[in-house]
Amino acid sequence: MSLYTLTAHALLDKIKSGQISAADVVAAFRKRIADVDGKVKALVRLGPDAGRDNGGSGLFPIPIAIKDNMCIRDVETTCCSKILKGFRPPYNATVIEKIIEQGGVILGQANMDEFAFGSSCETSCYGPTYNPWDLKRVPGGSSGGSAASVAADEVVWALGSDTGGSIRQPAAFCGIVGLKPTYGRVSRYGLVAFASSLDQIGPLTKDVHDCALLMNIISGYDRRDSTSVDVPVPDYTASLIKDVKGLRIGIPKECFIEGLNPEVEASVRAAIEVLKKLGALVVEISLPHTKYAVATYYILATAEASSNLARFDGVRHGLRAQPTTSRKAPIVDMFEETRNQGFGAEAKRRIMLGTYSLSSGYYDAYYLKGQKARTLIKNDFDKAFESVDIIVTPTAPTTAFKVGEKISDPLSMYLSDIYTIPANLAGLPAMSLPCGFDQNGLPIGLQMVAKPFAEETIFRAAYTYEQNTTWHTKKPVLN
Ligand code: GLN
Repeated sequence: MSLYTLTAHALLDKIKSGQISAADVVAAFRKRIADVDGKVKALVRLGPDAGRDNGGSGLFPIPIAIKDNMCIRDVETTCCSKILKGFRPPYNATVIEKIIEQGGVILGQANMDEFAFGSSCETSCYGPTYNPWDLKRVPGGSSGGSAASVAADEVVWALGSDTGGSIRQPAAFCGIVGLKPTYGRVSRYGLVAFASSLDQIGPLTKDVHDCALLMNIISGYDRRDSTSVDVPVPDYTASLIKDVKGLRIGIPKECFIEGLNPEVEASVRAAIEVLKKLGALVVEISLPHTKYAVATYYILATAEASSNLARFDGVRHGLRAQPTTSRKAPIVDMFEETRNQGFGAEAKRRIMLGTYSLSSGYYDAYYLKGQKARTLIKNDFDKAFESVDIIVTPTAPTTAFKVGEKISDPLSMYLSDIYTIPANLAGLPAMSLPCGFDQNGLPIGLQMVAKPFAEETIFRAAYTYEQNTTWHTKKPVLN
């Protein structure tokens, strides 16, 4: 079996027993990238080269891809936006420090929707990434490059970020495991901010065991991120027990809605049956306010994005464009021209939406109301978790759609996150894991959501399900 098909835990076993060396592993993945990334286009930059790519010392000498919105010292980091071309951060994100400390080998920076705005990886200034299961389809987004690089065996695992579903939806579309941790579990220091009250970094991996290993590496309090929470980090691998007896699983009655693809629905219902047979107690619950989640998210996330993106003006980072005509003061002309040339259409749309909902006269009607709706959505979850341990839903309403299919219809693109957004609004941990394939052979994802800092419950349920099914063992064929 080729080394590049293996999980991190399988590779680590082989390294420990002396069958292979860390350098063999790195070489196998470098070759695999050279063989397939021309088709998948998951990585926008290889490396960081030599010096930093330490060739595998430390406890976890595992090849990894990093979404292009996490700062790597002295290495171009652009969020796949023209406005950040040439920006080299002077420091490492906390997660990068942790990966390097453990001997991780960063083989590439992964493609993403510009500034993580999107669900298809098509708004990147580098062009789209293609789904390894069908190269005519999108890998999902915004962490599409991270998900595709793992699914195509270009790396063992990857880091993504999730503001409204950007780890889980691409994990579902690419047939892998993706976890958005509890808000505050993983430091966001050095993550370029999209919507600061929603963003979280998390793992994309080939199985649940690897997800637990990568969570062990990246989790924990960081005084440099004021939103990180000082709660002890358990050893997540201790939760990999094959037992869900007595676990109370809630199925929201609002989740089987119009617009949900029948094949996705059938796979999710079948997965619930598997969990039931294994001894879980399945009950119907209600999350009545989640119907407002997408609308609420697009008010709050765009408001925060418009404020976070105000710093990109040609003065400190990346691109500086020179105005051709003089309209206002020269510096204002420079700001305007830089932002006009530097941001793509979706980024401009979000900045305008966010600026509008924050402006005086509209603030109460939109932003403030959005915050109130967010509280109602969170209260629904608090109530549900009084009677269940975990909530199960589809990850996305469809399987991977075709490249170009939704790019000119923002609303239908936004609806792709209908199941993932509520967990961000409520700050909850949520995982997507493979639970089947549609008739076209495209992967389907199952979402599991738990209480804040109850990632262990997710690991227990997900591992039990995974070990009793074979979906995670299937691989796309890339010829
Ligand atoms: N697709 C959602 C959006 O476009 C979520 C993106 C994300 O989680 N970064 O905002």
